[in-house]
Amino acid sequence: MHPKFSVVAPIYNEEALVEQFYARVRDVMTGLGEPWELILVNDGCRDRSPELMDALHAADPEHVVVIHFARNFGHQLAITAGLDHARGQAVAVIDSDLQDPPEVIAEMVARWHEGYDVAYAVRAEREGETWFKLWTARAFYRLIQRITDVDIPLDTGDFRLMDRKALDAFLQMREKRRFVRGMVSWIGFRQIGVHYKRHARTAGETKFPLHKMLRFAFDGITSFSQFPLKLSTWAGTAAVGLGLLLALVLLILRLGGSAPLAGQGLTASLVLFLGGVQLWSVGILGEYVGRLHEEALDRPLYLIREIKGRDDHPAPPVS
Ligand code: UDP
Ligand code: MG
Repeated sequence: MHPKFSVVAPIYNEEALVEQFYARVRDVMTGLGEPWELILVNDGCRDRSPELMDALHAADPEHVVVIHFARNFGHQLAITAGLDHARGQAVAVIDSDLQDPPEVIAEMVARWHEGYDVAYAVRAEREGETWFKLWTARAFYRLIQRITDVDIPLDTGDFRLMDRKALDAFLQMREKRRFVRGMVSWIGFRQIGVHYKRHARTAGETKFPLHKMLRFAFDGITSFSQFPLKLSTWAGTAAVGLGLLLALVLLILRLGGSAPLAGQGLTASLVLFLGGVQLWSVGILGEYVGRLHEEALDRPLYLIREIKGRDDHPAPPVS
């Protein structure tokens, strides 16, 4: 029999938390009184987490499914793999570091029973993050809301519950560079926010250094907006306009007998400025070309080394 609820959790080097995480999820899910499954995705861990995950499956084969990736593919693809393999009527995605309290799933399930297709968790408060992360995250979610057409809710991560209909819609999107929270907004359906307090990590450390955060932010923007491409056009238009204006002014002054700005300084600064604008534009273009390149290669989104707890190894849908 298929479980009613699936919980999908990506795991990357969380040996200090895996067992505690399972226990908290089990308590919440048991409390709901319906069949459930927990899909743990080993995103190429380099610590003892995989053994701990296998042990959880051995101890509770009825509920725990373990997907071992062939290597680290990243948080967004780990989530995707878990969602591909989930069989529930309602499917939750949650971080395994206990920053997202599993207890909130019960509240999401309540919204689902009220008829909502997606219940996403909104961080009303965040504990134990640096001011830098709080500030950049805040700025990023406001920026992306301004420059995209999709209504991506503010201060929302991937912690959410999706109804099967909404999930199947989501799973049709097989793009390589994934910004899952944006993709879920994009599908529409009836969505509602559930407010919660995001806790500090109880153990371990963040797996998202600044360069990964930036990469992720850029993926989010380029997935849903062509605004950066338009920036080049605007910058180009402004530069051409300024150049023409300057030429005109200098011409008029020269006709009037004076020759200001005869030195090299002006030329040098103009060259630098325009060179910068051009390189910048090429860089932005490169981001989009890079995405096209990845799509053209059409490699699989992720590779699975082994699955524990599933006999019918369903292959992920092919694009
Ligand atoms: N994670 C993952 N693959 C990665 C990085 C992170 O599966 O390459 C998992 C990690 O184990 C955690 C979740 O994704 O359960 C969120 O990661 P993290 O807590 O490091 O991010 P933060 O909360 O600091 O943004
Ligand atoms: Mg975390």
